[in-house]
Amino acid sequence: MRHLIIIGGGIAGLAAAHRIQNSISQGNALKCTVLEASGRFGGKIHTERRDDFIIERGPDSFITQKPAALELCRQLGLADRIVGTRKNNKTFIYLNRRMLTLPDGLSLMVPTKFLPFITTRLFSWPGKIRMGFDLFLPRRRSKRDESLAGFVRRRFGQEAVDRLAQPLLSGIYSSDPEKMSMQATFPRFLETEKKYGSLILGMLAGKKAMLARKPQAKPGYQSFTMFVTLKNGMSELVETLIEQCPDIEFRAHAPITRLAKSGQEYTITLDSGENLTADAVLVATPANVTAKLTQETAPEIAEKLAEVPFVSTAGVVLGYNREGFPHPLKGFGFVVPATEKRKITACTWVSSKFPCRAPEDKVLLRAFVGGALNEPMAEQEPEQIVADVKSELRDIMGLNVEPEFAHVFQYKKGNVQYRVHHEDMVAAIEQDLTQHPGLFMAGSAFKGVGIPDCIAHGNQVADAALEYLTGLPTD
Ligand SMILES: Cc1cc2nc3c(=O)[nH]c(=O)nc-3n(C[C@H](O)[C@H](O)[C@H](O)COP(=O)(O)OP(=O)(O)OC[C@H]3O[C@@H](n4cnc5c(N)ncnc54)[C@H](O)[C@@H]3O)c2cc1C
Repeated sequence: MRHLIIIGGGIAGLAAAHRIQNSISQGNALKCTVLEASGRFGGKIHTERRDDFIIERGPDSFITQKPAALELCRQLGLADRIVGTRKNNKTFIYLNRRMLTLPDGLSLMVPTKFLPFITTRLFSWPGKIRMGFDLFLPRRRSKRDESLAGFVRRRFGQEAVDRLAQPLLSGIYSSDPEKMSMQATFPRFLETEKKYGSLILGMLAGKKAMLARKPQAKPGYQSFTMFVTLKNGMSELVETLIEQCPDIEFRAHAPITRLAKSGQEYTITLDSGENLTADAVLVATPANVTAKLTQETAPEIAEKLAEVPFVSTAGVVLGYNREGFPHPLKGFGFVVPATEKRKITACTWVSSKFPCRAPEDKVLLRAFVGGALNEPMAEQEPEQIVADVKSELRDIMGLNVEPEFAHVFQYKKGNVQYRVHHEDMVAAIEQDLTQHPGLFMAGSAFKGVGIPDCIAHGNQVADAALEYLTGLPTD
């Protein structure tokens, strides 16, 4: 029986394992083992349930516009476990010591409604006029990648970089917008520019087309909010997936230290010294680990992956009593532009954003620090991070009450960065991989960091591995 080993039990590796399970269920005689270094599966997805609070250490939701995560939930029978965000979907920007709402009609960063845009206090008058230039500026001819900041500055001006793109868009990636690849992160904006010349006109055309189309829910689907989670937290996806893969061997506490190839066969060495052999290997570890693991078998790939930068972030989850809580929390939370020079980058009002995350008489918040523009904040001692976050929330939100608990989750060099020309590197690695039959790679370093992206990539690579294994000559 052919053997596939998947190294890394994050969502990319697990999605691949699920795809292999489907093939085994359909009669493909295959052995598959998932080797995970830590004591638990899920990687960045990590929910803790304590005292009726559901606490996310990593991702708290996934976007529904990209179908792979929803589709996986549906396949796992989790469709009725999906929970959308609450209705009061305001996000605030903390600017000049004031909480300002994003103007109605703002589509990510593109204004599509005249009156709210003209009346918002988020932009100065010169800033608004500069943003309006988007209607008349010619489209860019070059096909070369550019930075997020470069793109937004070109279309909308510096104020839009500082007050929208940096806190909202590059905040998702914990990145420096001056270094972040536009092509690899927001290709839709580039396509819109190419097609319509103006982003504003393009977004308006898109809205019109959407209204003209009668919304038709796919059978078996209900319509969801833009971001959704699962009733018991994101780890419910991981736990259910593993339960539903009875033919896959999942081994935790199995860190891999070496990957070697002799003839057609791969040998995988665990840190215990145990050796396993496989006909194919799918490496789904973070890029820096994949670089180390492939040094011997594919040095040209290892060299490229070793160049992929990572930055540190940390989150502080705080639980409070609702009684006496001094803030109305009417919205999903706020982001802080780097130009404000604060110690926190954002704060999600978790109990207002999602139902069933905290008991009714409690409040749950999650504040974020670090990222490419303020990494040292996330690398401090946990006690110092909590102290800094509490003092920031006192100053920004007037929180003069003590939390019942405050937990810090640090991701030291845990956030992969997509630099300008990232897609060229991915294409070069894909080309290199054609010289290494039986070696496959998936995960957040390649085609998107979001959970749907990682699932889609895990699926795609698992299909390629299946095709390879099926094509091997029988012994
Ligand atoms: C704080 C935070 C918040 C986020 N929020 C969101 C969000 O709200 N929505 C969203 O869509 N995305 C979010 N993301 C991004 C998303 O969670 C990740 O990009 C995604 O989960 C990465 O999945 P992965 O499988 O590629 O890698 P990982 O989850 O990193 O999994 C890799 C696995 O490999 C294992 N491993 C490492 N070394 C070895 C070894 N030597 N041998 C064996 N195994 C090894 C690791 O232990 C790990 O389990 C967030 C990320 C972070 C850090």
